[in-house]
Amino acid sequence: MPAELRVCSLYPDLMNIYADRGNMLMLERRCAWRGIGFRIDAAGLGDPVDPEAHDLFYIGGGQDRDQALCARDLATVKRDALHAAADAGKVVLAVCGGYQLLGSSYQLGDEELPGVGLVDLHTVREPGPRLIGNVAIEVELNGEPAVLAGFENHGGRTYLGPTARPLGRVLSGHGNNNHDGFEGVRRDNVIGTYLHGPLLPKNAHFADWLIATALGLERLEALPDALEDEAHREALAAAGV
Ligand code: GLN
Repeated sequence: MPAELRVCSLYPDLMNIYADRGNMLMLERRCAWRGIGFRIDAAGLGDPVDPEAHDLFYIGGGQDRDQALCARDLATVKRDALHAAADAGKVVLAVCGGYQLLGSSYQLGDEELPGVGLVDLHTVREPGPRLIGNVAIEVELNGEPAVLAGFENHGGRTYLGPTARPLGRVLSGHGNNNHDGFEGVRRDNVIGTYLHGPLLPKNAHFADWLIATALGLERLEALPDALEDEAHREALAAAGV
């Protein structure tokens, strides 16, 4: 069993709404319960990133204002390292505001924020209400169908380009843009999603998939997950699934 999961949390001070820290705690706890070490490093504005030094890179949600601060840094200072990490099969998980910065651009009125270009998508603000509510999506993990539950709250609408694959199909909620029935994006181990919640405490099976994938393990020791399973069921019920 590898000794340690090494996480790089990008912009934890700026991109951290809807309890993104809860996602990190979930990874830390589920590693600790199995005797797997856990190390988390922060990379803020201007900090270089070493693609070799981490197994999983995380970007949380953020307000438009904070995204504007991070977007240019992500697309310049951290761009090459994140591409190298993605190409090497490292896990990149980006939630909501972070997800919107994974593609080519985020158009905010007259301003266009650059994306880091890891996946083929773009995000725009369109007339219309924010897309808010509980959400459930069907995804495929290790070739098996699985359901993720969460909460979404975004003004931006995300459109996948022809070479991008969605993370999943919307069972309930708005998803990427309220039109096409898709949610999130997946390119190998690069994952973007609008699901907050926080996402991982509501989906322990997904947290485990991330840990196993990041460490290159086929399976992890099972944990007594009665409470986690109940949290998942409640989150699905809240989404009407
Ligand atoms: N600021 C972005 C939007 O409103 C993302 C918000 C978020 O991370 N919840 O679309």
